[in-house]
Amino acid sequence: MREILHVQGGQCGNQIGSKFWEVICDEHGIDPTGKYVSEGGNDTQLERINVYYNEASGGRYVPRAVLMDLEPGTMESIRSGPFGKIFRPDNFVFGQSGAGNNWAKGHYTEGAELIDSVLDVVRKEAENCDCLQGFQVCHSLGGGTGSGMGTLLISKIREEYPDRMMLTFSVFPSPKVSDTVVEPYNATLSVHQLVENADECMVLDNEALYDICFRTLKLSTPSFGDLNHLISATMSGVTCCLRFPGQLNSDLRKLAVNLIPFPRLHFFMVGFAPLTSRGSQQYVSLTVPELTQQMWDAKNMMCAADPRHGRYLTASAMFRGKMSTKEVDEQIINVQNKNSSYFVEWIPNNVKSSVCDIPPKSLKMSSTFIGNSTSIQEMFRRVSEQFTAMFRRKAFLHWYTGEGMDEMEFTEAESNMNDLVAEYQQYQDAIAEEEDDYEEEGEEHYEEQ
Ligand code: GDP
Repeated sequence: MREILHVQGGQCGNQIGSKFWEVICDEHGIDPTGKYVSEGGNDTQLERINVYYNEASGGRYVPRAVLMDLEPGTMESIRSGPFGKIFRPDNFVFGQSGAGNNWAKGHYTEGAELIDSVLDVVRKEAENCDCLQGFQVCHSLGGGTGSGMGTLLISKIREEYPDRMMLTFSVFPSPKVSDTVVEPYNATLSVHQLVENADECMVLDNEALYDICFRTLKLSTPSFGDLNHLISATMSGVTCCLRFPGQLNSDLRKLAVNLIPFPRLHFFMVGFAPLTSRGSQQYVSLTVPELTQQMWDAKNMMCAADPRHGRYLTASAMFRGKMSTKEVDEQIINVQNKNSSYFVEWIPNNVKSSVCDIPPKSLKMSSTFIGNSTSIQEMFRRVSEQFTAMFRRKAFLHWYTGEGMDEMEFTEAESNMNDLVAEYQQYQDAIAEEEDDYEEEGEEHYEEQ
């Protein structure tokens, strides 16, 4: 058994996290009381149930989930929501102070006070595992709790469990969705942490989620509920290979090995097809070629960056539902052949595909895309520009120094993110010929001798 321990923090983290559990409970046949309700005896639903659930007495399945926040509101509504009773009551850890959208409060003051109670619960869950493969954390980067306290927790977990994997579902801020001006500060300080302490980050960019809702799904005023519907479909797709029996990316480490050629470049663009709005799923049905076309389309990416402005280092395409594996393989080869300039040629076979025969609820077929694209630098550049515009004038800095933070940490975070952008650019420009040059130089050297 290779268990995953899930943690959700802050308003956004708790909202997307609890949606994730609703969706996967549904897929595995677990009802809101934790009971397995079989639909015609589908064994695969339970075959790997231990990856995300503990088995409690009386045959109940309990999410291996820890919920944390610095204020009680969001967690209270989860508790009284449709799946509120499924969580272990002791795993709700919350304070009363709030983080006021201040990363420093989450990371250094209010959050630091609560972190030990969270770690106690994490430790207890970890001790109950047969062979923990790693952790997944759901949070936003724009606020104070998920962002500041979330990254504090990630660094503490890294310290205590250095050889376990750390996956994050990180929601990047966009002014289109939020009106808090300091979000670029909070996000940049978080990225600084995620580069060092997380192994793999699924980027969920509110800017792209908003655009999908507005342009593709024609929702005139998208709500968090609408954005989170896209997020939970994607999270279910991304984790499908971890939850159901199969070959590709069957655990967090294999996923990382396939996708990460350089350790710092572990921020993934994710995509989903077919895109649907809440309640409209049953009307959409696509063929394998249509799913393939859509999943590679810039318009379907949950990150506001255009893959055609960069190159793929690696990518994974995961299909769900009853379909021909041969057709999937052909379609994927077709994409690569037609678009070969968008894949770095110095990593042969850098696109992997797989089929899981269990579709998500209310769809016959779907596909999820995970790409490590150098174009993701566009999103980092966007946040970086917003950061720099304010930091140049030291605007709003007193909120952070007031919590004891040093300006140096801002400077370091800024340059770490700029370095990251430069690294993406470097590999985007790297071509196979460089290798030839190197060989030629080597040969010359040989002749001289
Ligand atoms: P925290 O409670 O201090 O962690 O703060 P929040 O999670 O509210 O962080 C604010 C950021 O998260 C802003 O960028 C919001 O746009 C975003 N956000 C808050 N709630 C949600 C949500 O339910 N879904 C999405 N997609 N974004 C959210």
